[in-house]
Amino acid sequence: MAVSDHVDLPTFIAGVSKRNPGQPEFVQAVTEVAEDIYDFIGDKEQYHKYQILRRIAEPDRVISFRVCWEDDAGNIRVQRGWRVQNNNSIGPYKGGIRFHPSVTESVLKFLAFEQTFKNALTGLPMGGGKGGSNFNPKGKSSNEVMRFCQSFMTELYRHIGADVDVPAGDIGVGGREIGYMFGQYKRITNEFTGVLTGKGLEWGGSLIRTEATGYGATYFLLEMLKTKGKDLVGLNAVISGSGNVATHAAEKVNQLGGKVLTLSDSEGYIYDPEGITQDKVNWVKELKNKRRGRISEYVKEFTGAQFHGGGARPWAVPCDVAMPCATQNELNGDDAKLLIKNGCFAVSEGANMPTDLKGVHVFKDAKILFAPGKAANAGGVAVSGLEMSQNSSRISWKEEDLQKMLIDIMQGIHKSCVEYGGSAGSDHIDYVKGANIAGFKKVADAMLAYGVV
Ligand code: GLU
Repeated sequence: MAVSDHVDLPTFIAGVSKRNPGQPEFVQAVTEVAEDIYDFIGDKEQYHKYQILRRIAEPDRVISFRVCWEDDAGNIRVQRGWRVQNNNSIGPYKGGIRFHPSVTESVLKFLAFEQTFKNALTGLPMGGGKGGSNFNPKGKSSNEVMRFCQSFMTELYRHIGADVDVPAGDIGVGGREIGYMFGQYKRITNEFTGVLTGKGLEWGGSLIRTEATGYGATYFLLEMLKTKGKDLVGLNAVISGSGNVATHAAEKVNQLGGKVLTLSDSEGYIYDPEGITQDKVNWVKELKNKRRGRISEYVKEFTGAQFHGGGARPWAVPCDVAMPCATQNELNGDDAKLLIKNGCFAVSEGANMPTDLKGVHVFKDAKILFAPGKAANAGGVAVSGLEMSQNSSRISWKEEDLQKMLIDIMQGIHKSCVEYGGSAGSDHIDYVKGANIAGFKKVADAMLAYGVV
């Protein structure tokens, strides 16, 4: 008999752990997906026979390289760079680049794995990838960041391409870094192509790409609330993070009539009982993007607010809805229990895997409205997909058209989650299960069509 994937779930996870030693984030992400996929494929022999889950959980390739650069004091610095190309069954590899000291191969493998499902959910033709480096942009001059980005691209360029692999931004990589990397790619290859997304509007970027992740996560939250006959008007929202995703989520919550109580960074969170209104959100954007300052400075400007330091996270603040928009594993099982105890009934993840496995189980068991990042934060990569389309046809779409497309895509993802996340005899939607199955099915069916490759 042929070797089959008919091992039970614990044996499958044990195999993933054994093959990926010292990679807890990757094993965590695969476990969360496998828990749902095992249910779904129980009676679907061909997914077992062709080892589809086993193959999606093994990246097509992991490229690791040295990145050398010179700091302003003339010291030679050495960092490690990676690109994880997880799966290109439904389109070119696509996913961001992260610069942060916490970046490891495990973190990038988990992100590339998640990206594969997320990108499939958007309905656009994009495979899954992710890249980055343990470079810490914090405290570096713009020239240092430029030299690092150029050195990083000097190796990366040979592995990417508009029809091969299209990176974008992520934590620590915004418009400035994309500019430096795109400039270096163009210099080396002498080609102006859509090889990166998140570009500036003057050089091939798309309108609303910057806003798309945070806006999309809020639209998804709204779709979930609608299933209960609610909207965001008058609701209190707790948001973590203060980067691109968090500030645009805060902006959209304000626009839709909610009140934003918190934002955070790695040093702690600010709590503003009067609400972080649009003018305050603009101030935070300026603080983070132009002055590259810390969120603690908020309380000097807006004296009614409090700062909670020591790396504290905002989950103890009572709220109706929560949006973790900072980073992975920032919300654990105890935080999840506390949120529910304080009345939180909807959570939309703007970050990737911000809730740890225990937290996910707490939310699932409590049957609150809980949207995993791969569904809720897909708006960013979706508009990246639209940027790719515009680049291929060398045109720029209008803002109002793009806004409409983003809303359509988020509603489409919500619909897919409802289709696969419901259960007979209950009106509860398990969005984690729905997102996992809908994303898996699309990639899996393409893989089946290709045979054993
Ligand atoms: N880094 C974002 C994400 O996690 C965006 C990726 C992209 O636009 O390719 O989905």
